[in-house]
Amino acid sequence: MKLVFATNNRHKLDEVRDILGDRVEVLSLNDIDCHDDIPETADTLQGNALIKARYIYEKYGTDCFADDTGLEVDSLNGEPGVYSARYAGEECNSEANMLKLLHNLTGKSDRKAQFRTVIALIVKGEEKLFNGIVKGTISEEKMGNSGFGYDPIFIPEGFSESFAQMSSDMKNSISHRYRATEQLSKYLKENYD
Ligand code: IMP
Repeated sequence: MKLVFATNNRHKLDEVRDILGDRVEVLSLNDIDCHDDIPETADTLQGNALIKARYIYEKYGTDCFADDTGLEVDSLNGEPGVYSARYAGEECNSEANMLKLLHNLTGKSDRKAQFRTVIALIVKGEEKLFNGIVKGTISEEKMGNSGFGYDPIFIPEGFSESFAQMSSDMKNSISHRYRATEQLSKYLKENYD
């Protein structure tokens, strides 16, 4: 089966191709000559994943899926959530986002948080959503240099090191994205094999 993944992120494409295996040919936006800046205007992860998948399905008529991810912090009512990439402003970077989050958690004893990835799949017009969650806590300060985004301040449950202190293999075997993609893989196997 052939599916367009609404991204050009090399890292995401490699990870997803690895999990879905040979049964599914995963095409990127570049592969279908789509160079549009697809809007992400919803106020939920699920909403944004659906906007992206519907955009591709409606414009190209190809079966496809799209993802959206956010870091949800309990004591901040789920913030930064869908705004994770631009928490400290439209032109900000990961450093500014992490500093803002650490600042907003100053003095709070509840530092529980979760990364959540939502994948929206559309096959022959039928929509399906998959969730991948990894629970953890926000550290008091940055720890480690690997990874990206909020990795240096996120400690997954059952570990004492942050995502940025782990090998990428270790992170990728427990991550929110991995778990959502596993759900997608299971669904495709059960329904389209
Ligand atoms: P996206 O939907 O995958 O583009 O993710 C949105 C934002 O969430 C990114 O810009 C990062 O700030 C954050 N994020 C997503 N996945 C991760 C991760 O695995 N580690 C750290 N931050 C992440």
